[in-house]
Amino acid sequence: MAGAMGTPVKKRIVVLSGPSGSGKTTIVRRLTHESPVQLYKSVSATTRPPRPGEVDGDDYWFLDNQEFRRRVAAGEFIEFAEVFSSGFLYGTLWSELDRAWAQGEWAFLEIDVEGALRVVQQYPEAVTIFLRTPSSAEFERRLRARGTESEEVIQRRIATAEQELRQADRYRYIVVNDQLETAVSEICEILKAEEKTYNAQ
Ligand code: 5GP
Repeated sequence: MAGAMGTPVKKRIVVLSGPSGSGKTTIVRRLTHESPVQLYKSVSATTRPPRPGEVDGDDYWFLDNQEFRRRVAAGEFIEFAEVFSSGFLYGTLWSELDRAWAQGEWAFLEIDVEGALRVVQQYPEAVTIFLRTPSSAEFERRLRARGTESEEVIQRRIATAEQELRQADRYRYIVVNDQLETAVSEICEILKAEEKTYNAQ
């Protein structure tokens, strides 16, 4: 792909993963405003029904099973996975990456570990960041404090989080979300350094 004036388009990807309750949503929101590099937050597709207040094309592309499967078959996803064994599918569309790159921005993916590993298989130079809570007990406390999930869902998320944590060392960076400000600025520093390296290539 070539950009304006025939300059090659830089295909930059940053992937952020972490268990729900790791403060990911807040950090993603902060980064979209404060990042020192230009980020385009990829909008994932999912078969999960929208939660109250969620907007199609903004929070997710909400698709039914048939449409999701059709797009998988058409090769429209760089990766997709069934998350939390919930039966719901989530995936990253190539069209989202293309949009980021066409704008000269980093494609910013907030996806699960399985998806992140698939992205890295295809783009080994992707910058991967794993966000973790200081401890499992703290993770459980945050999850319960949200008060939005049933006990069954909470237990499943704890099990998934423990499994994900075992994969954390497959990420290039691990950031502990102990203090929000520190975590945000650590990620900003990572992005700044990575962009510098990238531009030097
Ligand atoms: P939620 O249903 O709470 O919005 O998201 C549940 C999980 O799905 C999160 O852990 C998030 O990282 C993951 N997820 C969201 N979008 C994608 C995606 O496009 N691909 C993959 N593999 N996981 C995703």
